[in-house]
Amino acid sequence: TSTKAPATVPEAAQETSGGPEPVSVSARSVRRSFDGREVLAGIDLDIRRGEFVALLGRSGSGKSTLLRAMAGLDPAIEGRLLVPRRRSVVFQDPRLQPWKRVLDNVVLGLPRQGARDSGRAALAEVGLSGHERAWPATLSGGEAQRAALARALVRDPELLLLDEPFGALDALTRLRMHALLRDLCDRHRPAVLLVTHDVDEAVLLADRVLVLTDGRISLARDIDLPAARQRTDPRFAELRADL
Ligand code: ADP
Ligand code: MG
Repeated sequence: TSTKAPATVPEAAQETSGGPEPVSVSARSVRRSFDGREVLAGIDLDIRRGEFVALLGRSGSGKSTLLRAMAGLDPAIEGRLLVPRRRSVVFQDPRLQPWKRVLDNVVLGLPRQGARDSGRAALAEVGLSGHERAWPATLSGGEAQRAALARALVRDPELLLLDEPFGALDALTRLRMHALLRDLCDRHRPAVLLVTHDVDEAVLLADRVLVLTDGRISLARDIDLPAARQRTDPRFAELRADL
């Protein structure tokens, strides 16, 4: 039997320093059903600070449902889910407010003191210096997604949740965004959950690749990530064929 978890979940237990990085996300037996159909059928998952986890799965497998739960956006989940309070979500659609300039979008909702300076710094980090006063409608798809990343970064997230963030971008822009994202994550070291159905993206970016199938997570531990990056691991091809 599982118990109802609150919509907003408390800070994950922090381990003492010296050992491995502290656990930032801890999910135990997390379940979610829609109309009696179980989409998440008992998710167990830990993500440590600084760890970049990619979650693969077919369309409709429940990836976004799990990400929304971790974002604290789903009050109806069951089980135990601990996530840090400082978390940021980037969706496929950058969700910029069209009537606010780029910098105002980035700092939206932050305490005024120092926010604009931090916002400018975040825009510089994603390569958008000079676009502070631009209107969102004038940005390219890649630039808008950079602004969405800046909006996440400026909140100094302990947990960064990315739901197919580059799915709407052309291939070259996507490659550039991969390099940017990996670089930002190496520097800021949040715990990262990247939801994607792009196997190449997962293998390229993540420290650990998970697959969501039939409501459960399987660790793709058999996949040798360096070999998969060189495309010399045959299980990589199997995984591609599977999704
Ligand atoms: P993915 O992100 O892996 O493509 P989703 O998490 O969006 O999958 O959806 C998983 C399943 O849950 C789908 O069958 C979808 O129709 C269903 N689902 C998601 N959200 C709702 C909702 N609010 N109401 C009813 N069914 C939903
Ligand atoms: Mg989805």
